[in-house]
Amino acid sequence: MDIHIEGLVKTYQSEGRTVRALDGIDLHIPANQIFTLLGPSGCGKTTLLRCIVGLETPDDGEIRIGDQVVWSGRKRISVPPEKRGLGMVFQTYAIWPHMNVFDNVAYPLQVRGERRAAIREKVLKALRFVQLEGLEGRSATRLSGGQQQRVALARALVAEPKVILFDEPLSNLDAKLREETRKILRRFLTELGITAVYVTHDRVEALALSDSIAVLNGGHIVERGDPQKIYFNADHRFVADFIGRANLIAATVQAQEPDATVVQSPLGVLRCQKRDFPVGASVTLCIRPEFLLLSRVDAGGGGGGADAAGAPPNIIEGRLETLDFVGEVYETEVRVQDQLLLARVDPGVAAAAGDAVRFMLAPEHCLLVME
Ligand code: ATP
Repeated sequence: MDIHIEGLVKTYQSEGRTVRALDGIDLHIPANQIFTLLGPSGCGKTTLLRCIVGLETPDDGEIRIGDQVVWSGRKRISVPPEKRGLGMVFQTYAIWPHMNVFDNVAYPLQVRGERRAAIREKVLKALRFVQLEGLEGRSATRLSGGQQQRVALARALVAEPKVILFDEPLSNLDAKLREETRKILRRFLTELGITAVYVTHDRVEALALSDSIAVLNGGHIVERGDPQKIYFNADHRFVADFIGRANLIAATVQAQEPDATVVQSPLGVLRCQKRDFPVGASVTLCIRPEFLLLSRVDAGGGGGGADAAGAPPNIIEGRLETLDFVGEVYETEVRVQDQLLLARVDPGVAAAAGDAVRFMLAPEHCLLVME
């Protein structure tokens, strides 16, 4: 079931000020996708989720779930939360400590007055799905954080909602458990073919889990797209910066070629991804550290020289200022004229601070973004 949101506005009064938490959101969330609302703290993602569920009343706009208008300011419609057919999983697991796993999961079906045999079948199926079969008799408090969150997921799923909404459900788990639970979640949501709306400020979680991502800032949707689009081809500086580490450098468009836009920058003249900016326009160049490919090191600070591999599209020459070992790579800062660039270097490469280095940079990894 898909969700249509039109012109959604929500304001709060706080300490005599009006906070515009949602500032006219237009959004279509397609059916049967994992759709993530991503953005920094305070951008309005939880407010949007709570308006969809019905836990907040918007000031204006309209929300449709499938064909049903569940909230409309103009039409004066407000369907109560329990009639919207949605499931929700919160950051805090919100499982009942005095009940065992089975009773926690069975609760929504018992409230609905379903038959015992049907309840048992559905609960065991949901527990199988979240890989907790065999634990139905265990006290819910004698489970790990990840298992407790999976009980909460099973409880949301057992009621067979049309849409399931997640508010930072993994944020209370440690890093390893978060990764494991994220994989389980991705697999079962994909298998279920259900519409899932997921709120997070964790960019890795958003990239790994989502079919589509909408990036919010200040109550607006800045940009939306699939994870690859958001990471590799963002249109906006805010999105490029928020979704991953990036070198952001002011540049000026010098020429348009059939398959590249050429800019003048503090790193020299660079061929970049083709973008429709006029010659002379001020733009921001976005280069991710991992796309600067080290092609040559001259130990002790020697000079440049020709590259044996032939002339790559963009060459950047500089000097390593710092080199930090962080596990799978060295993170380095490279001085290029007055500019400091973040780059990554394979730990197998014999490089040291002070070395002169040369990087290759493919035009498709030279992104031009707008403010
Ligand atoms: P976080 O990641 O920190 O949870 P968020 O993106 O989910 O942030 P919201 O919780 O939706 O952000 O808040 C959006 C804005 O509305 C913030 O400026 C917040 O301070 C404000 N806000 C949210 N709830 C209330 C409230 N009940 N009263 C006053 N202001 C509120």
